[in-house]
Amino acid sequence: MDSKIWLSSPHMGGMEMKYVQEAFDNNWVAPLGKNVDEFEIAIEHYLQDNKFVAALSSGTAALHLALIQLGVGYGDEVICQSFTFSASANPIKYLGATPVFVDSDPSNWNMSPEFLEKAIQDRIKNHKKPKAVIVVHLYGMPALMDEILEVCNRYEIPLVEDAAESLGSSYKGRKCGTFGEFALLSFNGNKIITTSGGGALVANTKDEKSKTIFLSTQARDQAPHYQHSEVGYNYRLSNICAGIGRGQMEVLEERVQQRRANHDFYKELFSDIEAVDVFSEANSDFYSNHWLTSITINKDICSKSNLDMMSAFAEKNIETRPLWKPMHLQPVFKDCPYYGGDVAEGLFNKGLCLPSGSNLTDEDKKRIASVVINFQF
Ligand SMILES: *Cc1c(COP(=O)(O)O)cnc(C)c1O
Repeated sequence: MDSKIWLSSPHMGGMEMKYVQEAFDNNWVAPLGKNVDEFEIAIEHYLQDNKFVAALSSGTAALHLALIQLGVGYGDEVICQSFTFSASANPIKYLGATPVFVDSDPSNWNMSPEFLEKAIQDRIKNHKKPKAVIVVHLYGMPALMDEILEVCNRYEIPLVEDAAESLGSSYKGRKCGTFGEFALLSFNGNKIITTSGGGALVANTKDEKSKTIFLSTQARDQAPHYQHSEVGYNYRLSNICAGIGRGQMEVLEERVQQRRANHDFYKELFSDIEAVDVFSEANSDFYSNHWLTSITINKDICSKSNLDMMSAFAEKNIETRPLWKPMHLQPVFKDCPYYGGDVAEGLFNKGLCLPSGSNLTDEDKKRIASVVINFQF
């Protein structure tokens, strides 16, 4: 059996161990230290736009702390893109609030501005103005930010960007993760860069960054003893993991180019196959990091499904994955309101994510191409 080709596996740059070693040498084996500070500075520098970044234990933790700071609490409603990974919605539930799910735009795959407005209007009619909107840049593709921001601004509802999959992407030249009141980043093992596990919250002010760090370190008041006036969390990033992150930030731009080259490879590979569309930017306003290159298979003009293709890859020890199953179809969220049609559901039924690691070799690409060439569509 050939070795496994993963969907998206960690890809070290080379300097990570040096920063981790430094932490050991100085005995800063703790959830604070120079690596944490420097990692935050590196992300702030990368995003530009005068942002303030707090390094945390995960992207999910970052979203939790964003919603807390936006005042989301028991009985509130938060609008969330339905076509996403469950971590975009779970923190709403942690706070005793209700997710209100919204369908996607067919060409962009992210939140539909029209259904967003419909949802807001209908919730307001029900005497409940949503406390926040969570938009996702799925698989690295920037959402329709002008339209989404216009709706959020008109109804004065704060926007949170889930940029877990889109570090390195931009919309009209502005980086994903810089549009919202808050944005979350993820450095889980399968993301474009990784700290093994980790995340960050991007904020607009220094005070919000301080508040995020305060909440993530058990909300300790200033006093010689341990005093607490608020409920705290243990969400700060380890100085060891942050050392990995420092090394990864040095190669982020390279990783973006490698993932974009994978996307070009797949565009070429499927160019003659009429039944397959490779998900791509609609126009030059959008610049995707192509975290995962995804295809859809048109079942009307071929006899095979996305799952048939997944099996064909699996036989050759190549990992692929169906697109995210929309949140409004998940058993855990079955009682939540939903606004939209069947766009997200349709994508789920016909889509597949292909191996997209920045460490994909030419040999790997040959194996992948051979599965596609031998597949009877
Ligand atoms: C990975 C991911 C998250 C969660 O990040 P973690 O660091 O794994 O907690 C949130 N949203 C999306 C869309 C993701 O892909």
